[in-house]
Amino acid sequence: MAGKDYYAILGVPKSSSQKEIRQAYRRLARQHHPDVNPGDKAAEARFKEINGAYEVLSDSEKRRKYDRYGDKWQYADQFEQAQRQSAGRWSSGRGGAFDFGDINTSGDLGNLFEGILRGFGRRPARQRGGDVQQPVEVTLEEAFHGTTRVLQMERQEPCATCGGRGQLAGATCHVCRGAGAISKPRRLEVKIPPGVRDGSRVRVAGEGAAGPAGAGGLYLVVSVRPHERFERRGDDLYTEVEVPLTDAVLGGEVQVPTLTSRVVLKVPPLTQNGRKIRLGGLGMPRLGGAQTGPDGPPSGGGRPAGGRGDLYARVKVVLPKELSTEERELFEKLRATQKVGPES
Ligand SMILES: [Zn+2]
Repeated sequence: MAGKDYYAILGVPKSSSQKEIRQAYRRLARQHHPDVNPGDKAAEARFKEINGAYEVLSDSEKRRKYDRYGDKWQYADQFEQAQRQSAGRWSSGRGGAFDFGDINTSGDLGNLFEGILRGFGRRPARQRGGDVQQPVEVTLEEAFHGTTRVLQMERQEPCATCGGRGQLAGATCHVCRGAGAISKPRRLEVKIPPGVRDGSRVRVAGEGAAGPAGAGGLYLVVSVRPHERFERRGDDLYTEVEVPLTDAVLGGEVQVPTLTSRVVLKVPPLTQNGRKIRLGGLGMPRLGGAQTGPDGPPSGGGRPAGGRGDLYARVKVVLPKELSTEERELFEKLRATQKVGPES
């Protein structure tokens, strides 16, 4: 570690407690105080040095930075801010803030550090900003029709006034206050195409974190909320449909809800409980293959690539919960018939 060793100046080990540091400082300060050493320039310089070391080591936050970054500790904020900047900071318009502090700090830490010290404009690799992932939750209906989400985001961008250097004509930049970066609010409306699946990634080019060589990508990571009536498997939907006993036995018609309306389902005679009946083309829209294409939102920009999955109605035969006298007699007759049948 180049530069001054504050621990050595105070004559304490790096593992010292705050109390030990304070005690060492008081002892040395008394010893080298200008009042005790009038006219002694060396003592005065030493006194300043001791105070400088104590100022850093007595402050737990400054000490942490010093321990981590050494004599560059004063740039710790800029370094850490740039790490955040490369990851982006997002908040969702639907509430809930997300911090992706760890998503992308690609590249060598040391190089990045050097780059920051020299200013964004001269970072060695001219890196593109990091990709940012934003989780969004949609209902199955929204996944069916497609939807939009408005994202309120805050993006760290290099300060235009000082070119990201934090300094302007030798003074601290008054716009970014030396940080080299300023956060800019942005409002984005993002289209989520029909047919998105749980885990689909919708890419929005150039809306990730800013970087010297352009912004990274923004990915909406879609999760589709479970539906109370429909289960989704790929592009197919499954639903349960109640069929009265008589219709299951003799055949009949029942109404089946779809995601958009209802359809009439013909139940064939002697339909067994649990039978699956396919309703072709009434499932989810098929999403195009290029969900995460290189440029912009999925292909079609909101139109399904073609066709729809199927809807499967799973039959649940419903037995009567009560019987009229007449119905009871009919069931008695039915039973009698069945008992006689095989034996005769
Ligand atoms: Zn600035």
